Amino acid sequence: MSRIIVITSGKGGVGKTTVTANLGSALAQLGCKVALVDADFGLRNLDLLLGLEQRIVFTALDVLSGECRLDQALVKDKRQPNLVLLPAAQNRTKEAISSDQMRFLVNQLAKQYDYVLIDSPAGIESGFRNAIAPAQEAIIVTNPEMTAVRDADRVVGLLESESVRSIRLIVNRLRPEMIQLNQMISVEDILDLLVIPLLGIVPDDQKIIISTNRGEPLILEEKLSVPAIAFQNIAKRLE
Ligand code: ADP
Ligand code: MG
Repeated sequence: MSRIIVITSGKGGVGKTTVTANLGSALAQLGCKVALVDADFGLRNLDLLLGLEQRIVFTALDVLSGECRLDQALVKDKRQPNLVLLPAAQNRTKEAISSDQMRFLVNQLAKQYDYVLIDSPAGIESGFRNAIAPAQEAIIVTNPEMTAVRDADRVVGLLESESVRSIRLIVNRLRPEMIQLNQMISVEDILDLLVIPLLGIVPDDQKIIISTNRGEPLILEEKLSVPAIAFQNIAKRLE
């Protein structure tokens, strides 16, 4: 049975794409077959984080227009044999695809992969609605900041009104030293506000920025860093 999970947040820049790339890589390393779907049409960057941008030939839109087959559009990762990416089209608006088309693509992938992770665009408009349409589960990413938590709360409400079975939370960019000084809201405070189960915590760490720029998922490092272990633990918890 395949699990179809959307990674979403409401607010932009909180780490959805970072979580999709690193969690997908961590699941692949546990031996799961993983397909990552970039649902951020117009502002795609999942390919960059994975270091696969040079290898894109076709996109999801080419599959839908009959230009190519789905398996031709999937970008394989040499370093990660269990992982593929379905790229979004660049330079297109978010209206380029419908919810039914997204369901079609994701359901095809679900036949062959253990996990389909969908990287959602920011906002709660059509791109977001397309991203959540096929999902059975959702992971909400937030930062320990009131603006991000409030947007996450809004998204929880929207997901509950759709048929998403399970909604869980990742708190990203935590800085323990700031919480100790009472300069940052704590995970407990966030959980009081959002009332959804916690899936994991990822520290604020410059290694994430370096790995983003290099196009190398953290989990591929020889000696695992603290954020890499955080993603590995989240993958184990999901499994
Ligand atoms: P989103 O997809 O939600 O818009 P991204 O995943 O693109 O967000 O992340 C936005 C920026 O924040 C990127 O530059 C990324 O490297 C950085 N970032 C994300 N998570 C962390 C973290 N835990 N520590 C440090 N930087 C992070
Ligand atoms: Mg993103």
